[in-house]
Amino acid sequence: MSVHAQVVIIGAGIVGCSAAYHLSQLGWQDVIVLDQGSIPRTGGSTSHAPGLVFQTNTSQTMCRLAQQTVQLYRALTHEDGACFHTVGSLEVALTAARWEDLKRRVGYAASWGLDPELLTPTEARDRLPLLNAERILGAYYQPTDGVAKAVRACEAMARVVEANGGHFIGNSAITGIEVEKGRVRAVITDQERYTADTVLLCAGIWGPKVGKLAGISIPLTPVQHQYVRTAPLPELAGSQTEISHPILRNQDQAMYMRQETDSYGVGSYQHAPMLVSPEAIRSPQDAPVMPSILDFTESDFAKPWRDAVDLLPALDGVPLTYSINGLFSFTPDSLPIMGESSVRGLWVAEAVWVTHAGGVGKAIAEWMHSGQPQIDLHECDINRFEAHAHSPAYVWERGAQQYREVYDIIHPRQQLLKPRPLRTSPFYMRQCELGAAFFEGRGWERPQWFESNAAHDVDILGVPQRGEWAARFWSPTALIEHRLTRETVALYDMTPLSRLEVQGRDALPFLQRMTTNQLDRPVGSVVYTLMCDTRGGIVSDITVARLADDLFQIGCNGPQDAVWLRDHLAENEQVQVRDITAGTCCLGVWGPRARDLVQSLTDADLSNEAFPYFTARRIFVSEIPCVALRVSYVGELGWELYTTADYGLRLWDVLWETDGPFGQIAGGRAAFDALRLEKGYRLWGADMTNEHSPYEAGLGGVVRFKKGDFLGRDALVHLADQPITRRLCCLVLDDPAVVVMGKEPIRVDKQVVGYVTSAAYAYSLGKSIAYGYVSADYAIEGTSVQIEYFGEAHTAHVCKEPLFDPKGARLRV
Ligand code: FAD
Repeated sequence: MSVHAQVVIIGAGIVGCSAAYHLSQLGWQDVIVLDQGSIPRTGGSTSHAPGLVFQTNTSQTMCRLAQQTVQLYRALTHEDGACFHTVGSLEVALTAARWEDLKRRVGYAASWGLDPELLTPTEARDRLPLLNAERILGAYYQPTDGVAKAVRACEAMARVVEANGGHFIGNSAITGIEVEKGRVRAVITDQERYTADTVLLCAGIWGPKVGKLAGISIPLTPVQHQYVRTAPLPELAGSQTEISHPILRNQDQAMYMRQETDSYGVGSYQHAPMLVSPEAIRSPQDAPVMPSILDFTESDFAKPWRDAVDLLPALDGVPLTYSINGLFSFTPDSLPIMGESSVRGLWVAEAVWVTHAGGVGKAIAEWMHSGQPQIDLHECDINRFEAHAHSPAYVWERGAQQYREVYDIIHPRQQLLKPRPLRTSPFYMRQCELGAAFFEGRGWERPQWFESNAAHDVDILGVPQRGEWAARFWSPTALIEHRLTRETVALYDMTPLSRLEVQGRDALPFLQRMTTNQLDRPVGSVVYTLMCDTRGGIVSDITVARLADDLFQIGCNGPQDAVWLRDHLAENEQVQVRDITAGTCCLGVWGPRARDLVQSLTDADLSNEAFPYFTARRIFVSEIPCVALRVSYVGELGWELYTTADYGLRLWDVLWETDGPFGQIAGGRAAFDALRLEKGYRLWGADMTNEHSPYEAGLGGVVRFKKGDFLGRDALVHLADQPITRRLCCLVLDDPAVVVMGKEPIRVDKQVVGYVTSAAYAYSLGKSIAYGYVSADYAIEGTSVQIEYFGEAHTAHVCKEPLFDPKGARLRV
C-alpha cells in the first residue's frame, strides 16, 4: 500500500516548512513533509542556527528574498514568543576600505528598497552600549534587520499547513526516490511509500546525498562553521527579553555577534574552510547531539575570541557554555539552488540561509504552482551550472573559496583564481601570446584586454582618470581597443557565449511559438528576438539565424535557455535542441575595415548587396568552413564567424596574419562592454530579466503580434495598452570622470526613482554613461537625476538613445 500526496517535501527545516506553507497558501492539498529527524527540531542546520538576518545583499534577488523573509517571519505567531525580533543590525568598519564599502552598501541597499544609514562610532555605541566605539570608524545601520527564531517559525508554519490538511511526518528517513521515464513517481522511506507527481527536495546539507537517490546532482558542499555562546554577562543581568540589542557584524574580522537574553553568541568565519562530504554526515540515529553539529575545534576559535573581546570588552573573562562546529551548505557561487531538476516533477530548494528561507519558500512554491518564476531567479536557477560545476573537485574548491570570502569586500570584477584555466577557446594560445588579461565566466577564459595593444599609438591622455574602485580590474588599454575597433578592425572571441542548434520538421513552428519576433523568413535571415513568459517578462533575448528550412542557430544567454526551450516542447513535436557551444567557436570581426579583412580571405561576395546586415551565409574563410552572421554587438560593420573548434586556431591565424593594411587588433571584453553600451545594446541578466517587459526594456519593436500566437502574447497585448511605470533609460553623467559600476541608486530630490543596470565610459563620445530603470515620471529626455556612488550624488541627465550612431549607418555600409 502507498500513501498518495499532491506533493512530498523532503526536509522539515526552515526551507521545507516555508515551501510547504506557501504551497498550502496557494491551495495545494495533501502536502506531506517528511524528515528523518523529529519535528520541529529535526537536527538539521535550522535547529541550531542563531538566526541573524542581514537583508542587505549586492544581489537584488537575494535582498528581495530576505525582505520577504522578514515580512513572513514577522507575521507568524507562536505561543512561545515572536518568530522575528526586529532589533536592527550594525555592520561595523574597522578599516578604511570597509568604511568605503559601507558607503557603497548604503547605495545598493537603497536601490533594492532598504533604508539604511551610516553611523558615527558614538552613534553606533548609543545603539549597542557594549560596543567598543574606539575600535571602529563607523557603522552601517539597517533598522529592519533582526533575529529569526527559526525553529519557532518552522512550527508556526507547520501548524498552518496542517490546518489546511497537510502532514508533517518525522523520524522518517528517505531511502529511495522512484523515477519512471524521466519523471518522479514516489518517495520511499524506511516505513512507507509515498506516491506523488511532484517532490521538493529541501534536505539542506544532505541534499547531494538525497539527490543521488534520483540520479540528480546538487552542487553544494557542507562546510563547518563555529558558533559559541557565553555564560551570562553582568552587564545583562536580569534581562528577560530574548534580544533587544541590534545584531552585530564585524566583517573585517569575519565575525558576527548577537545578544541571547543575558548572554552573547559569537560566530566566526575566520578559520580555514573545513569541508565535509555529504556522505559522511551522520543520521539522527547515530548522532549523539545533532547530526549537523561536529566537534568544536578550540584552536580555531582562539583568535576570533580575542577579536570578539576587543570589540565587545564585556565578553572578557566570561566563560563559554556552548560551542559548536555547525554544518551548512556552500555552492560554487554561494547562491541557492532552485528549480525543477532534470527529473520531471522533482524540484529543488537547496543551500538557503534562514535569512532567505521565507522568500525562497514563496518563490519556489509560486514557480511550482505556475510553472515559471514570478520574480527574477536566474542567479539561483538550478540550470545555471555548466557541466564542470557538478564535479566534486569544482564544488569543493569553489565552496571553500566562497567560505573564505564570505565577508570579504568583493569587487564586481574580482576573479576567483582556482580552478583555472578550465575552459579555453581554440584562440587561447594566441591570446596568451598577445598578453591577454583573462577573466573567467562559466568556466571560460575570456580576454578582457591585451597588453600588446598598449603599444599602439592612440592618445588616451585626454580621457579623464576614473576613480580607484572603477579602475580596479580594468586597464586603459581597453580604451585603445575601443578606439581601434571604431577606426580599423578588431577580433573578439565570442566563443564563450552560448549557442544552440534547433533542428527538425517542427523547428520553425516551435520557435515561432517560443519567441516574439517573426522568424518565418527566408533561409539566410537573422532575427533578434525575445523569449517571454506568460506574464510577458523577458526570459531571454536571442539571435536566431535560419541556416536551412528546418535548421536554426541561436545565440543565447546560457544553459538555462536550452532547458526553457526543451521544457516547452510538445510530446509529438519533432525538434532537437542541441547545445553546440563547446564544439564550436566564434570570432567577431568588427570595425570599418572588417569587410576588407574578411574579403581578402574569401571568394564569397561580402558586399552590402550580396551579404546585407542581419543575414547569414555559409562561406569559406581561407580553407575554413564558417557560418558567417552579419551582426555586431559593438555597432560596427562586420561578421561573427562560427566554425567547429578544430578549425578555430587556423581561423584566428589566417585573419591575424593576412597581408594588407587592415590594422587588425585583438579586442577584449572591457572594450566590448563599453562599445555595446554606447550603442544601447541591452545585456540580459543586467538590463533586463523576466521582471521586465519588452516595453519597459525599450524592446517593444521586436514584439510582432501579427505573426500569430506565441508564449506571452496575451500578456504583451495587455501590457502594450498599459501605461509604463518604469523605463530603461540612458543617463549621461555630467562629470565624465565618474564611471559607476551598476546597482547604484538613481535619485530625484533624494527619493530613489530607479537603479543603474550597466555603466561604462563611452570613449567614442567622451562621456560617462549609465543605463538604468527609472520611474516613468522621470524617464523623460533632459530630466536631471542624481546617481549615488560611494555616498556622493553625481548629476546625470536622461538622454535620447542610442548615443552612438543612432541610425545604425555604420552597420549597414
Ligand atoms: P536543514 O535545516 O538542515 O533541513 C534539512 C532537513 O532535511 C533536515 O531536517 C534533515 O533531517 C532532512 N533530511 C535530510 N536528509 C533526509 C532524508 N534522507 N530523509 C528525511 N529527511 C532528511 N543562517 C542565517 O540566515 N543566519 C544565521 O545566523 C545563521 N547562522 C548559522 C550558524 C551556524 C553555526 C550554522 C551551521 C548555520 C547558520 N546559518 C545561518 C545557516 C542556516 O542554518 C541554514 O542555511 C539553514 O538552516 C538551512 O535550512 P534547510 O531547511 O535548508 O536545512
